[in-house]
Amino acid sequence: MAESALPSAAPAAYIPGMTQLSGDDVAAIRAALLAYFDAAARPLPWRSTDDPYAIWVSEIMAQQTRVETAIPFYERWLRQFPDVDALAAAPLDDVLKAWEGLGYYSRARNLHAAAQVVRERHDGAVPDSYDTLRDLPGVGEYTAGAVSSIAFGGRHAAVDGNARRVLSRLLDIPSPTAAWLRDVAGTLVPADRPGAFNQAVMELGATICTPKSPRCHRCPIARQCRSRAAGTQADRPAATKRKAIPTVDMATAIVRAADGRLLIVRRPARGLLAGMWCFPCVGVTSVADTGAHVYDIARRYATPRGEPCPIGIVDHVFSHRRERYHCYMIDAVPDAVACDEDIEWIGETGTRRPMPRAQQRILSIVRGAERGEVNESGSGSGSVVGSRGRD
Ligand code: SF4
Repeated sequence: MAESALPSAAPAAYIPGMTQLSGDDVAAIRAALLAYFDAAARPLPWRSTDDPYAIWVSEIMAQQTRVETAIPFYERWLRQFPDVDALAAAPLDDVLKAWEGLGYYSRARNLHAAAQVVRERHDGAVPDSYDTLRDLPGVGEYTAGAVSSIAFGGRHAAVDGNARRVLSRLLDIPSPTAAWLRDVAGTLVPADRPGAFNQAVMELGATICTPKSPRCHRCPIARQCRSRAAGTQADRPAATKRKAIPTVDMATAIVRAADGRLLIVRRPARGLLAGMWCFPCVGVTSVADTGAHVYDIARRYATPRGEPCPIGIVDHVFSHRRERYHCYMIDAVPDAVACDEDIEWIGETGTRRPMPRAQQRILSIVRGAERGEVNESGSGSGSVVGSRGRD
């Protein structure tokens, strides 16, 4: 394996971009972190398996998701899709449904697509080569390094946000670049037990070298830590200014048939929430026009009966923008569509289609409105009752 261009192995004392880290320091850091990991690592379910597929799934799931949140999803996922073949053969709707609530659904779509590549090109066996892993959909530098090192013992670094913070503090570098991190982590990772070492660095960042109030008195590499010596922990890595994100107002149509069924539609195969199922909506420049837009949406699928009625507002924050769903209910008679795979009328029992968290929040508001409940402010149209989250 080991095709990627990593720096040469320890006992090098020289690490690009930094000085005076002796070979002894490198050896001491490795030994201390491995001992710490053996003694104190949390017993996470994916740490008790050597199945490369399960490790791969865990690495994708734990990105941008808290470990405590990921665990039940991981366990359910492996029961439903126990191996690459099972995942590759599953309909995309089932895959997205299993991911429902975790957010960042492109991870699930890519995992599904990658499983199909592994089934077709690698006989269903997860590749042990870093470069081959890297070629799979959704597998970046971090995931390839983590899977290669943890599942196959490949000497590759894996730098997530926790590892970035630890390395920044260890060497007292305020704004580490990706190239610097790659060099430093690649030099520190040992040939022996690279997977345990990578996990140890990340575990340290998750539990001891935390963003606020790192517990340096319990840190296994406190003696080698330069920001601790300099008292700069709170400023390492340096804070970056978050860009303000725009809010996009969305006219959201809750189209209701006489028997109470509600219309949902499948989103396009590309773009935000690709392939997920949502109440139909359009972006609007003037909120005052929402009712008219909702009426137009309803006419695409049904014959409206009466005027749209505001029932609530749901906010949802994506990584790059906030969407504000202005939800209007409108009664309508469904058009006779013989067979359209991209729309569904859902009844009281809900749907097996995958729906993002914000859409489920809208659904619960709709059901509440049907029962005559009002939302928090007592106003159907003016209160933002929605969720913050990631999709
Ligand atoms: S000594 Fe403190 S700042 Fe340095 S790596 Fe350990 S926990 Fe982080």
